[in-house]
Amino acid sequence: MLGPPGGGKGTQAKILSERLGIPQISTGDILREAVREGTELGKIAKKYMDEGKLVPDDIIVGIIKERLSQPDAKNGFILDGFPRTVAQAEAFDDMLKGIGESLKAVIFIDVPKEELVRRLTGRRTCSGCGRMYHVEFSPPKEEGVCDHCGKPLYQRDDDKEETIVKRLETYEAQTLPLVDYYKKKGFLVEIEGVGSIEDINRKIREAIGV
Ligand code: AMP
Repeated sequence: MLGPPGGGKGTQAKILSERLGIPQISTGDILREAVREGTELGKIAKKYMDEGKLVPDDIIVGIIKERLSQPDAKNGFILDGFPRTVAQAEAFDDMLKGIGESLKAVIFIDVPKEELVRRLTGRRTCSGCGRMYHVEFSPPKEEGVCDHCGKPLYQRDDDKEETIVKRLETYEAQTLPLVDYYKKKGFLVEIEGVGSIEDINRKIREAIGV
C-alpha cells in the first residue's frame, strides 16, 4: 500500500488482510511497538518519528527482512508503509528475487492534502490492536474506547499538527517518487482515496481482483 500519511493505507490494509487471510505488515506499527517497549530500535526510531522524518533505510530493510521470514508471511502479505524510499524499494526488489516471489500490485491511494490534514488531526489509534478511528468521521461507539478490542484510544504523537506538516513534506520528497518507480514497472494501481472506507475498499478489490 502506497500513499500519503492519513491516506487510509492502514485502514484498507487491515480490511484486506482479514479478507485474504494474510498478514498486514506495517513498519509504522512495528516501530511504535518498539518505542512502547523501549528497545534499542525504539529509542533510535523515536527521534526520527517525532520529527516527522523517515527512519534510516538500513534499519527498515532489516526489520522487513526479519518480518518476511516469519511463517505467517509464507502465503503472501500486505505491506503498509513500506517501501517509502526508492532505496527501500530497490532493496525489496532484491529480497523478492532472493525468495523467488514477485509483487502482485502496488496500490497507490491518492488523497488531496487538505483532506489529509483533517484526517490526521482527528485520528485516534487503538493502543491494543492498532485500529484507527476519527473523532468526527468514524468515531468509536464509546468515546475513547476501541470497538474491536476494548482498549483505550490515543492520539499518536506524530498526529499532532506540527509534525503532520513535516510528515507530508517528507512524503512528497522521499516517497512520492515511488509512484513513477512502480508505474514504470507496471505494478501501479491508482485509487482515488476519497469517499467511504467501504467504497474505497470495493474499488481496491475490483482493481486487483480479490
Ligand atoms: P506510519 O505509521 O506508516 O505513518 O509511520 C510512522 C512513522 O514511522 C513515519 O513517519 C516514519 O518516521 C516511520 N516509518 C514507518 N515506516 C517507515 C519506512 N518504511 N521507512 C522509514 N520510516 C518509516
